[in-house]
Amino acid sequence: MHILVLNAGSSSLKFQLIDTDGDAIAANADRRLARGQVDRIGGEAIITLVAGSSAPDVRTAPIRDLTAAVEYLLAWLVSEASGVGIGGVGRIDAVGHRVVHGGERFSRSTLVDDDVRRGLESLFELAPLHNPHNVRGMTAARAVLGTDVPQVAVFDTAFHHSLPEHAFLYALPYQLYRRHGVRRYGFHGTSHRYTAYRYRTLTGRSREETRIITLHLGNGASACAIGGGRSLDTSMGFTPLEGLVMGTRSGDIDAAILEHIAVKEGLGLRELESMLNKQSGLLGVSGLTADMRELLAEEAQTGDRRATLAIDLFCYRVRKYIGAYLAALNGADAIVFTGGIGENSASIRARICTGMDWLGIQLDASRNAAVRGTESRIDAEGSRVAVWVIPTDEELLIARDTWRVVSGAELPF
Ligand code: ADP
Repeated sequence: MHILVLNAGSSSLKFQLIDTDGDAIAANADRRLARGQVDRIGGEAIITLVAGSSAPDVRTAPIRDLTAAVEYLLAWLVSEASGVGIGGVGRIDAVGHRVVHGGERFSRSTLVDDDVRRGLESLFELAPLHNPHNVRGMTAARAVLGTDVPQVAVFDTAFHHSLPEHAFLYALPYQLYRRHGVRRYGFHGTSHRYTAYRYRTLTGRSREETRIITLHLGNGASACAIGGGRSLDTSMGFTPLEGLVMGTRSGDIDAAILEHIAVKEGLGLRELESMLNKQSGLLGVSGLTADMRELLAEEAQTGDRRATLAIDLFCYRVRKYIGAYLAALNGADAIVFTGGIGENSASIRARICTGMDWLGIQLDASRNAAVRGTESRIDAEGSRVAVWVIPTDEELLIARDTWRVVSGAELPF
């Protein structure tokens, strides 16, 4: 089944075309036919198109909105020139959408119908920065492909539905939860769920036996405590702002700081929100960049003190969460690194795991140094806790869930 996976943002659209079905899932033999993205939608857009494993084709074109972006992508996908070779638009069998927020209602991937769309719209309040774009992506796909092509929503929050109340509730007046849904929802669920599934496959463990800590370290970053195969706690909260230090997000802070800064700097709520989400984290502390690779290069080349400080803050926060989740889970069998930083940076993995031998976590330095973006085990002989690198693949899980929903197969969590 040809599944178009869409991830629609405010001015960008990422896509993949994946061929999958039950046999392909069982054999881990899904085929990625094409991928790419459209950036700067609304003006002269930059379009990157990749057929199979060929070199990226980067071009520009005026793209006024998401519908125009979907139209452009489909025209390319079905053209002879693309080399994707799927024939006509009729060969797109279903569309899977990444949806950031599923609230309390959506605990698993769901076929999009009018009722579901209304449900998604009612969540705009909770995720104003993301969900409206995700829903616009559905409208665009329907406008271009028609109503006969099923569309499926796959939620970043769904995997965290299993959080117990004591983990998802904030110690605020309880009526704020009842009235306004103020609670931890958690995000990156598709990534944590995918890496947990790969861990099980690689180690031959059952879902019930899976007791691990997954660390998704990318531009956004989050940790997840998984026990009995289920998410039992996660570091992102009511929004993706809480928890780890991220590229431009602060992660955990004392909420009382906000009033203090508002008064001292004369900032309004919007400006505070923007400061926390867009000007903090690695960028805010270093004053240089939100990009970990650039920070590491700066540190190596110039010894910049604040570059080191930002990296140290990042690693120390991850270490604290590992400690917390080892306590929450009463120990773990493995720690799994994923996301752009977790998959590619041996030095960050080493800095995180240094000095954790009392907890039973010991990296093998040369194994760790050799791993970049491949599924590998990197702990030392005798380490009580295994350490893995498992590259995430959210699009693949979205495609598989879309096939499962459309074909009525069981949906594993
Ligand atoms: P997103 O959350 O946007 O999907 P990614 O998961 O792609 O982001 O992660 C992007 C981050 O990964 C950036 O900070 C980038 O610098 C970092 N990164 C990628 N490769 C490396 C590397 N080899 N060493 C250190 N950091 C890296």
